[in-house]
Amino acid sequence: CGIIGITGRDDAVDGILAGLTRLEYRGYDSAGVVVRDGDELLVTKRAGKLDNLKSALADEPTSGRVGIGHTRWATHGAPNDANAHPHLGPTGRVAVVHNGILENYQALRAELDGATFASDTDSEVAAHLVERELDAMDTPDLFEAVRRTVARLEGAYSLCFVALDDPDTIVVAKFEAPLIVAAADGVGYCASDVAALIEHTKDVAALLDGQLARITPDGVEVRDLAGNPAEPHRYTVDWDLSA
Ligand code: GLU
Repeated sequence: CGIIGITGRDDAVDGILAGLTRLEYRGYDSAGVVVRDGDELLVTKRAGKLDNLKSALADEPTSGRVGIGHTRWATHGAPNDANAHPHLGPTGRVAVVHNGILENYQALRAELDGATFASDTDSEVAAHLVERELDAMDTPDLFEAVRRTVARLEGAYSLCFVALDDPDTIVVAKFEAPLIVAAADGVGYCASDVAALIEHTKDVAALLDGQLARITPDGVEVRDLAGNPAEPHRYTVDWDLSA
């Protein structure tokens, strides 16, 4: 239901929680965050209110410079801890959060012979597919792995990935669900709603359907499904936070 990703800030987790708080008005049944800590992707997720996630993180803090967070409105799978996002690939090297519905997730799961899934969601298969693509590459490239994966998806999605192989990068893809990207002061961002970003920057870009972006602390690169450079809808937010 709500997504926020941050790369290039020491306290990425704090920034993500602040962003999720701004998205609370959308409604949700669970929430979670993943952050890269050295050679591990650390996931914390809880059913229920954002406060449940915040107290889980207070008990067992995580930190890192790149991460993504999610508030979920369940469509496939009960609203419990296991089905909360983020979801990891089979060896924990890729994490995904997803808004929307992957209509062909059962067919895609069936193709992944013998894979075991940790959730009942439609979303988890996307992390498996991206991890497989990375495994098949001589030089792992998260953007290319996501591009190949989303080419096979049917349905509506804003998807947001991080991977150990591509440590400072967030890769996102959009189709019939909103996704805003931005970069400011050496930090890259993505969010499902500009409300999560305006405390950081007012210069944002809304991806168009079929667009993907590679987000790093240095900036945002937008491409189409064929991998060619593409132009998102760039605009400046003109509303005032204090209003
Ligand atoms: N279809 C996904 C799920 O049920 C994502 C739901 C959402 O947009 O929050 O987990």
